[in-house]
Amino acid sequence: MHRLTVSILSSGSVGNSALVMSEGKGLLVDAGLSCRELERRMSVFGAEPTQVEAVLLTHEHTDHVRGARRFALDYAVPVYGTKGTLALTPLDGVDARPIASGKEVRIGELRIEPFKVRHLAAEPVALSVTFDSRRLGIATDLGSVTADVVRHMAGADMLLVEANYDEEMLLRGTYPEFLKRAIRGDHGHLSNDDAAELSGSAATERTKKVVLVHLSRENNMPEIARKAVEKNLARRKHPVRVEVTEHGGMSGPFDLA
Ligand SMILES: [Zn+2]
Ligand SMILES: [Zn+2]
Repeated sequence: MHRLTVSILSSGSVGNSALVMSEGKGLLVDAGLSCRELERRMSVFGAEPTQVEAVLLTHEHTDHVRGARRFALDYAVPVYGTKGTLALTPLDGVDARPIASGKEVRIGELRIEPFKVRHLAAEPVALSVTFDSRRLGIATDLGSVTADVVRHMAGADMLLVEANYDEEMLLRGTYPEFLKRAIRGDHGHLSNDDAAELSGSAATERTKKVVLVHLSRENNMPEIARKAVEKNLARRKHPVRVEVTEHGGMSGPFDLA
């Protein structure tokens, strides 16, 4: 049987990495933990680093690229990213392969379409990942839910969506004003309400599951994020299951059988 599974190795500003597995082969989407920690967490999911065929980076922020070079060198795998991302990521000696938004790339059995998002990085992308007839939408680290983002995520079997902060917790919290403004800005991060809007707009009868990722430790709580998104999705007739990842925690594997 053709299966696609996603395991969240870590999520949040402490480090982001998701292992997408199909037919025993893996793609690491972001590698924001140390190489050793990536290896350790993979083994918890019963996966071997040698099963990973490539690393794909969504953007150059440290919480997404920390272990990328070491992992790529140790396991002799290529690293994919937009030109802007690759230029700003330390990748000496790595087989770095440029991708471009709007251009589909094939990695193993996976077809991946990167698409542009607004985020304070050089050339950040979100991803539509297709395997067989299954599709996974991944949108983390973006500040705006544009029509283009909704279009690319629409109708996926599973959606990985950033739910970074609860508006009220952020506003009342201890972050300095400039940082609050940056997070809330068009090129910052998605709030729970934004995540609810994106999930609600993108989910169709095909969509079985929404996984909320990149929650802030200071400005969010899993249950608040879940409620915001579930409330929006409840308006639909078919059930969509909402899973929430803990800051820095492991979640899954989530199955798109
Ligand atoms: Zn991030
Ligand atoms: Zn970022």
